Amino acid sequence: MKITPFYVVLLGTLLAGFSALGNDNPGSGSTAALTPVTHTLRLEEEKVWVKVYQRPGMNLNFVSLHDNENTSAEAAKAYIRAHGGRLVELVHGRGRTVVIRRNGVLHHFDPNRMFTTEGLRHSLKYFHNLSEENLGLASRFASQVGDIIGLEAGKSIISVHNNTPGKLTIHDFKPGEWYGEDTRDVFINPAEDPDDFFFTNSPALFRALKSLRYNAALMIQNPPDRGSLGNLVDNLGGLYVLVEAEHGHLTRQIAMLEDLGRLLGGDSFPTQ
Ligand SMILES: [Zn+2]
Repeated sequence: MKITPFYVVLLGTLLAGFSALGNDNPGSGSTAALTPVTHTLRLEEEKVWVKVYQRPGMNLNFVSLHDNENTSAEAAKAYIRAHGGRLVELVHGRGRTVVIRRNGVLHHFDPNRMFTTEGLRHSLKYFHNLSEENLGLASRFASQVGDIIGLEAGKSIISVHNNTPGKLTIHDFKPGEWYGEDTRDVFINPAEDPDDFFFTNSPALFRALKSLRYNAALMIQNPPDRGSLGNLVDNLGGLYVLVEAEHGHLTRQIAMLEDLGRLLGGDSFPTQ
């Protein structure tokens, strides 16, 4: 076949596509496969696989709690391939929620509401699945996941998420909006997509992200107890940062993680 400019462009597009799928290395690190260690957790008849991807290098701990938010997990893996770090990813094929399966019946809860009893109670109630039995099982699951993440006093955690256009945006962190009461300060860059933003409990990180013109929100001290991973990390005195991007914004989310990695520079970042 004669190589015409059209095919060159097509080949370039295909290669870029493969690279964007995350099977290749966007940075300077090793291109070897990133193979997870898998922990199998049970919720009665249900199995949840907790996959841990790890490579030496940067001391960054990523967590992907929502199984259907694949762009964010791919972005974290791309970062780890290039720079090192650790990702804990929940995998079960049920979508956003985790389920307890009993006699074939599914009882849902949100894994980003499971880290306090109060949050878990609300989440089970929201899905009409609140019972002492479910509360006990989901609490045990939350502590098993917490152990795999290695949650402990002072540990920094990066929680990666994706959202649907317009559903959850930086605008929801403004005063009077849905997460306004969780928020001490918010910076919105009108030139940015409002679906792509950071939320952190670290004023220093907030200021640094703002200076890079990222959409960013700063958590208040003692935020409402939603049972989120952010609540728990904050209670443990660690730096928490949520990296939210629109589904499919892989290149954008990798760039956000790259900038975050440069700012955090390992584990020596000031939390105040
Ligand atoms: Zn999410």
